[in-house]
Amino acid sequence: MRLILLGPPGAGKGTQAQRLVAKHGLVHLSTGDMLRAAVAAGTPVGLRAKSIMEAGQLVPDEVVVQIIADRIAQPDAKRGFILDGFPRTVPQAEALDRLLAERGLKLDGVIQLKVDEGILIRRIEKRVAQMMANGEKIRSDDNPEVLRGRLEAYRAQTAPLAGYYDGKGMLKAVDGMAPIDAVTGAIDRILGGRKATKPARRKRAKARRAAHRTRARSRKRARKSAPKARKNRAGKAKSRTRRRLTKAR
Ligand code: ADP
Repeated sequence: MRLILLGPPGAGKGTQAQRLVAKHGLVHLSTGDMLRAAVAAGTPVGLRAKSIMEAGQLVPDEVVVQIIADRIAQPDAKRGFILDGFPRTVPQAEALDRLLAERGLKLDGVIQLKVDEGILIRRIEKRVAQMMANGEKIRSDDNPEVLRGRLEAYRAQTAPLAGYYDGKGMLKAVDGMAPIDAVTGAIDRILGGRKATKPARRKRAKARRAAHRTRARSRKRARKSAPKARKNRAGKAKSRTRRRLTKAR
């Protein structure tokens, strides 16, 4: 299964992605996480991305497209993946279409987490406060000023993707303001009609074959015992006749 989670910063994409990973055995591909790792490692990509990310702007398309192209070519991504934070612009979505087509792969769907922007700022402030209380490191772009810039970038560059995927009949929206479990439930219902991952499909096919073998075996047993049953019935009839004969005598 290959999915995209679409939604503004703080919409809960990461939380839902983690749950989907656990449930469906997919890999979670977050360009934000990958870029932060590149920044921390001081790679050329990281050096290029650092100041852009700190300003809440978008890293150039060709940089993230290359990151994703490399990542989906790795063996663990063969089982399927969830894209979180990618694509973020229409050119990135077009590049993804090309990448998948070259590999003969298809997207199963795009799940849009719909949220109220006013509440997002409060959500991120809460997340920051919680992280600070836990002594965790705060993201340098998780402050109200930069967040406004990230929301601005989302509105201008990422929101048009909803129309892009809706036009392809792939967009499914869920209410991202609902409690976390309810959002997961809504996503589950959307995915309910989709094919399970290959290992799950294999398991079901194996169970079907085993049930078929059991049915075949019991039919064979029934055939074998059938003449015996006739004999029994005949035996009973005989004895009943014999009883009647005995009575008559
Ligand atoms: P958010 O919580 O804002 O969704 P992410 O962790 O997904 O945060 O991304 C953090 C930052 O990394 C973004 O503000 C942007 O600078 C950069 N980034 C992540 N993904 C992309 C992408 N697909 N295209 C361009 N920039 C990206």
